[in-house]
Amino acid sequence: MIADPVTGETLATTGGAAAGLPEAFAYARSEGGRALQAMSYAQRAAMLSEALKVMQTKKDEYYAISLANSGTTKNDSAVDIEGGLFTLGFYAKLGAVLGDARTLKDGAASMLSKDQLFQSQHLMVPIRGLALFINAFNFPSWGLWEKAAPALLSGVPVVVKPATVTAWLTHRMVADVIEAGVFPQGALSIVCGSSAGLLDALTPFDVLSFTGSADTAAKIRSHPVIARDSVRTNIEADSLNVTVLGEDALPGTPAFDLYVDNLVRDITIKSGQRCTAPRRALVPKAVMHAVAEAAAGKLAAIRVGNPRNAETVMGSLVSREQYDSAREGLALLNTEASVLFDGTAQPLIDADENSACMGATLLGVRDADAAVEVHRHEVFGPVSSLIGYKNASHAIDIAHRGLGSLVASIYSADLQWMASTAEALASSHGRVHVVSPEVAKTHTGHGNVMPGSIHGGPGRAGGGEELGGLRALAFYHRKSAIQAPSNVLELVEQHSTELKV
Ligand code: NAP
Repeated sequence: MIADPVTGETLATTGGAAAGLPEAFAYARSEGGRALQAMSYAQRAAMLSEALKVMQTKKDEYYAISLANSGTTKNDSAVDIEGGLFTLGFYAKLGAVLGDARTLKDGAASMLSKDQLFQSQHLMVPIRGLALFINAFNFPSWGLWEKAAPALLSGVPVVVKPATVTAWLTHRMVADVIEAGVFPQGALSIVCGSSAGLLDALTPFDVLSFTGSADTAAKIRSHPVIARDSVRTNIEADSLNVTVLGEDALPGTPAFDLYVDNLVRDITIKSGQRCTAPRRALVPKAVMHAVAEAAAGKLAAIRVGNPRNAETVMGSLVSREQYDSAREGLALLNTEASVLFDGTAQPLIDADENSACMGATLLGVRDADAAVEVHRHEVFGPVSSLIGYKNASHAIDIAHRGLGSLVASIYSADLQWMASTAEALASSHGRVHVVSPEVAKTHTGHGNVMPGSIHGGPGRAGGGEELGGLRALAFYHRKSAIQAPSNVLELVEQHSTELKV
């Protein structure tokens, strides 16, 4: 069932297990794959531009769906809708540069014989199968396009299975581009509702990209088709992201103010339902109280409730189930943290206690070294925990206790500390976002995923990697070393262009 998380009204229903999945997948591979791979990168890039144009004319409908189904304000809906369309446009522009080529060269040829007549060239060719996307509920638009854009640009047909609770927007966007006829038949398909049978319909040449919880990720990893047939799989899962305030950034300094502003913004955008939200906020122990006071002042101004009311700054969580799960998570973290700001006690605007609206909460961890849950339990809502650190190396040790995250951000005016900390955090974070007062107005934001930078993190974050400009195409290509006479390689290379990332 697809419902309004503020009013509880039923908006749509989805069916049970889909019938005919193996046949549908076979059609996508044969018809969709063949048609897409008959085109060059530039032609497919042009196709992405056309899809973008179609959806740009329908944005009002997308915002209306997002408001009703995700319970988000216009600004928060934009993160998903505009973010998805921006990413699609980004890949349309990147793909145009690849021109008429149909394959990609990975590096230069290397000689295999002394007479130089026999050489080896690593060649990347689009995979023969399809790309199945199993997506999370929080980004029905961006989650589709950040994956579909590089897949379609690569010439790979897509089947998307959005999370059921917010499937409506994904469904509408897919229906719109299919109806407009911008993609070949079979290039883009959608399955709404039950996930039963999806993985069983995969074959060894397909790829699977999953975004969601670590629990579902574990089930997917151990599915016989994934384990036995080596179906290439990318996992984006839970993440205990950190944001670190430098020791130099005392109260009253620009870096301190930037830290507090961004912390509050990143906790509350989309009611904290972004996989990149900073769940752990590391600050020097001596200023923990000052950070809490400054953040609490700003959080108190964030009015929570029905996104239809113009006074509402932060809308709802996506469902009552998510609300209950966030409350349970909060109770768990409370066993080792104290409440520094309790937004859950705030009156709601135009919403009652049956809605999924939840005010922001800032916690303070009592003992940074003894705490366990704060480093392993992700509360997927507007919740973050302040953790006091003793010195620079202690901060890095605490950050690594997340066991692999999507993003770490650091705020300071100390260039040397920022450089060494960025390097130290890079081994456990897919992205390190460094903010000095100089870039106060131009930095792109801790939580924002920019398509030119990679998205994904090691360990607990799933070990996946998406985006990163043309790097994303590698997932949808198969790399093969073509060992051949030089004159044959010359012919092979006629249809190829170097992959410059
Ligand atoms: P979820 O419950 O794991 O569901 C994710 C997707 O998996 C949904 O489409 C779901 O379908 C499907 N699914 C459930 N059980 C399945 C199974 N046995 N086999 C195949 N598919 C199955 O996660 P969620 O609650 O939607 O998303 C929240 C989580 O996603 C958070 O932990 C968040 O951190 C993470 N997330 C990560 C990223 C990232 O990029 N790293 C981005 C966004 C969210 P149904 O909806 O029909 O159950």
